[in-house]
Amino acid sequence: MLTGAGISTESGIPDFRSPGGIWSKFDAGVMTSSLLYENPEEFFKQGMAMLGFLEDIENTKHHVAHQVLAEMEKEGLLACIVTQNIDGLHQKAGSKKVYEVHGNIREGYCVSCNKKVEFSLLTRKIKEGEIPPICGECGGMLRPGVVLFGDRLPDCYQEALAEVKNSDLLLVIGSSLEVAPVNNLPALSKKYIIINKEKTYHDRSACIVWHEKAGAALEKIWQLIQGPINI
Ligand code: NAD
Repeated sequence: MLTGAGISTESGIPDFRSPGGIWSKFDAGVMTSSLLYENPEEFFKQGMAMLGFLEDIENTKHHVAHQVLAEMEKEGLLACIVTQNIDGLHQKAGSKKVYEVHGNIREGYCVSCNKKVEFSLLTRKIKEGEIPPICGECGGMLRPGVVLFGDRLPDCYQEALAEVKNSDLLLVIGSSLEVAPVNNLPALSKKYIIINKEKTYHDRSACIVWHEKAGAALEKIWQLIQGPINI
């Protein structure tokens, strides 16, 4: 299973590329590691403002699509989820084996000593005017634990890659498949299905393409497998 921002739009979190999505309000250039390291003041003003769309994440609920994937894992129908999302909604829904290949919004870390901190500490420091936020251990700069353009992917990406190569079928949900290297995963799988609201460049090689909302599609799939779902 590979998921992208589109699976969370029905929870009220905007994606990047849909009309009205985050890229229509912010410049993609602010989410780069080069801005973070070369001009941290600017990054922490603009880049963190962009991540503000996830500020109320504590109160954001998963929806039926996340729930069905968690149920499928419990039933042994799904080996794991490789997600580009940083919102943690798969885990909220009960999914256990989740590879967060673009990081997450629960943590930050020090770029010098690598000490992990809670994301809330980072946002509190920034609100108090500590820009860039400083590590209490070594005085290095703290940064969010999300993967920025130009960052190397976390080590779990290699495990995710192996899972995809070994799987019988990859189901891709809610991703434009425009972000590398994750958009190479479908081509590395034996076969793949795409469920996405809009067309993607990878539709042509998929064994099934379903242009549908994630919630409606997964509810239908679950009904076919098990009957009505109560969430
Ligand atoms: P994207 O914005 O490029 O593509 C999202 C795709 O989902 C679009 O093709 C859109 O048509 C489709 N979509 C939107 N709503 C849908 C729905 N209800 N059902 C089915 N499809 C729907 O997002 P991406 O491919 O994930 O890649 C971009 C990056 O976005 C990732 O790196 C990710 O970290 C980041 N991101 C994450 C979140 C999040 O964590 N929720 C939110 C925004 C962006």
